[in-house]
Amino acid sequence: MSEIAERLAGVRARIEGASARSSRDPGSVRLIAVSKTKPAAAIREAYAAGQRDFGENYAQELVQKAAELDDLTDLRWHFIGHLQSNKAKDVAPLVHLVHTVDSQRLAQELGKRASKDGRTLAVLVEVNVGGEAQKHGASKEELPKLIEAIDAQPGLALRGLMTIPPHDVFEARRAFEALAALRDRHGGSEKLPELSMGMSDDLEVAIASGATLVRVGTAIFGAR
Ligand SMILES: *Cc1c(COP(=O)(O)O)cnc(C)c1O
Repeated sequence: MSEIAERLAGVRARIEGASARSSRDPGSVRLIAVSKTKPAAAIREAYAAGQRDFGENYAQELVQKAAELDDLTDLRWHFIGHLQSNKAKDVAPLVHLVHTVDSQRLAQELGKRASKDGRTLAVLVEVNVGGEAQKHGASKEELPKLIEAIDAQPGLALRGLMTIPPHDVFEARRAFEALAALRDRHGGSEKLPELSMGMSDDLEVAIASGATLVRVGTAIFGAR
């Protein structure tokens, strides 16, 4: 077994354990392997071990890797980094899900491009639940208007919410619970079925709080 395959198996076991402890079906948590800064060869190794969902943070890097790996036709790309509106047109045609919609402007640009391509692009709203100044993401106050703006785009399908937690695991738990509460306040799991939260260090806590998508880089591909 390759090192990446071994680490991947370890992460899958962690997801299963955490799901069992929360009486959740492990199939209700999807693992996204975060491959930013890692070469295409590392992605191929994870793919060979059965991984299909991959997360990238930078538009340019995604465009390049998607071209290098276009023979893997059932690979699903997730965009999880901060996305500038002027890069929306490059990213939209390549991805399965954009996790980081944080402005009406970005929603418009993504929607425009998806409509032009005759497809519906699934998106999440990134929420800065702690109101941390250095972080991207919509504020809790901006969320209702942003949800409306996305619903108004025929090319977009709103699927849920995403957050990047603080490093401290105790504070991370509060952020995850706050995101789940926001989901309940803005339509519940019918309207917002996906919660993208949890990374290498805190995926168990995120799953206990209701995560449906966990974004794991270091624990699969090693340190960046
Ligand atoms: C890099 C990154 C991750 C993965 O973080 P690890 O700690 O390496 O698991 C998850 N989400 C986002 C938004 C990231 O930028």
